[in-house]
Amino acid sequence: MKHAKHASLVEVCGKVRSGSVTARSRVESYLAAIAKREPELHAFNELHIDAARARADAIDATVKSGREVGALAGAVIAIKDNIVMREGRTTCSSKMLANYRSPFDATVIEKLNAAGAIVIGKTNLDEFAMGSSTENSAFGVTRNPHDPARVAGGSSGGSAAAVAAEFCDAALGSDTGGSIRQPAALCGCVGFKPTYGRISRYGLVAFGSSLDQIGPFARTVEDATLLYDHLVGRDANDATTADVAHEPLASRVGRALTKPRIGVPREYRSAGNAPAVAEALERAIAAAKAFGAEIVDIELPLTDIGISTYYVIAPAEASSNLARFDGIRYGHRATLAPGEDLEMLYSKSRAEGFGPEVQRRIMLGTYVLSSGYYDAYYKRALQIRRLIKEEFDRAFEKCDVILGPTSPIPAFPIGGMTDPLSMYMCDVYTVNTNIAGIPGISFNGGFAQEGSARLPIGLQLQAPAFAEETLLRAATMFEAACA
Ligand code: GLN
Repeated sequence: MKHAKHASLVEVCGKVRSGSVTARSRVESYLAAIAKREPELHAFNELHIDAARARADAIDATVKSGREVGALAGAVIAIKDNIVMREGRTTCSSKMLANYRSPFDATVIEKLNAAGAIVIGKTNLDEFAMGSSTENSAFGVTRNPHDPARVAGGSSGGSAAAVAAEFCDAALGSDTGGSIRQPAALCGCVGFKPTYGRISRYGLVAFGSSLDQIGPFARTVEDATLLYDHLVGRDANDATTADVAHEPLASRVGRALTKPRIGVPREYRSAGNAPAVAEALERAIAAAKAFGAEIVDIELPLTDIGISTYYVIAPAEASSNLARFDGIRYGHRATLAPGEDLEMLYSKSRAEGFGPEVQRRIMLGTYVLSSGYYDAYYKRALQIRRLIKEEFDRAFEKCDVILGPTSPIPAFPIGGMTDPLSMYMCDVYTVNTNIAGIPGISFNGGFAQEGSARLPIGLQLQAPAFAEETLLRAATMFEAACA
C-alpha cells in the first residue's frame, strides 16, 4: 500500500482531457480493484456501476467532440453515504434511512459533476456519523485495508478505506469532531477538514450543525487540494457558507513556506499517546527543523476539556437535528398494534430505526438541553467553546500552524473498544478544531509495526480560520519530509 508511484490527479485529469487516457478505462480499473477487495473490506454501502460507466462514456464523448470538460474530468470519487444524491440511496448507514432516496443532489455533488468528476458509489459510516470506528454502521463494519482485523476509523471509515485501498482517486467525508481526519490517519491517507463555512453543507444530513464540515480524502495533499478547490464557495442554499475569497490552491501547494513557525502544544505530547504515535510526532518535529521551520513550544490547556465540551454540544445539536426522523416525514415507519396511538408511532419508529449509539446521543442531547440542566451543561459548554477559540487565537499569535497527532492510537482491533468513553477519547486531538471552526488536515507520519501488521500513523496540522493556503503548503512540506 505504497502511494509513492501515485500519479497526481492534476496529471491524470489532464490526460483524460487531452484524450490520451479514457475516463471509462479509469472507471474499469477501479471497478476491478473493487471486485477484488471490496467483499472483504466493505468500504461501500452501494456502488453506482452503471451510472459511473455511463458518465465516463459521456465524458469521453465530450472530449472526442472537442468540447470543454472540467478540471476534474475522469476523477473517480466515492461519497460518504450521509451526502445526498439523486442516484441510488442515501442511508447514513442507518436502518432509519435504509431505503431513502433523495429528490436532489447536494451542492458538493453538483459541483463535482460540473467539474467532470465521476461518482463511483456511497461509502459506509458510523450511523449518522456518530462514532470513531464505523462499527456503529447498521450495515456492518468497514475493515482497515492495512489490517482487515482492525477498524478503518470513523465516522467516514468507508471513504478512508476506499481511498487507501485504491478503489477511487479521492472521496468526500464529513467531519463534526474528527470524522475525516481520524479515519484518514488510521488508513494512511490524507483527510482535510476545511474552515467551518468553506464548503456548502446543503445536502449533508445534519449531525451537529455548528460543527459539521464536508471535506476531501485523497492519497496526497495536492489531490485533496484539487478537490477542495472545486468544492469551496458561498452557496445560497447554506446560509453558513462564508463569503471569503478563494484562490485555487492546487497549483500553489507545492511552494514551500519560508521558515514556517510550527507550534507544538505541550498537551499534544501526552503520555497517553501510543509509543509509535509519540515517535512519529518527534520524527516530524525533527524533519521540520531540517526543512528550516522554527519549532515553537505552545500550550493548549483546554485540549482535554474539548471532549466533554464536544460531547455536550454535538449531542445537543444532534438531538434537535434528528427530531425530523419521526416515522412520518422520513424513513422507517413502525407497524402499530391495534390501539396504539401517534405517540407510539413516533417512539416505536425511532426505537426500531436508530441504533444504540444514536439513541445514546439523542438522550444525552435531550438531557443537556432540558430545563434545569441547560445552564449546567449546554450553556457552560458554549462558554468553554468560546475559551477554546480564544486559546487557539492566542496560540496562533506565536505560530503559523499547530502540529500534533491526529489520533492518540493507531487502528485498533474490531470489537476491541467496548466502552463508549474510551471511544470518545479517540477524538481528543480533533474535536477542538471543530469547536473553534478552524481547518485541520491529517497526513501520514509513519507506521507502527504491530505483529505482522504495518499500521499507519496520522499527524495533524491546524491553522487559523481561512488560512487554508498556509495549512496546505505546510502539509505538503511535511508530507515530503515524512515520506
Ligand atoms: N467521533 C466523533 C463522534 O463520534 C466525531 C464524529 C464526526 O466527526 N462525525 O461524534
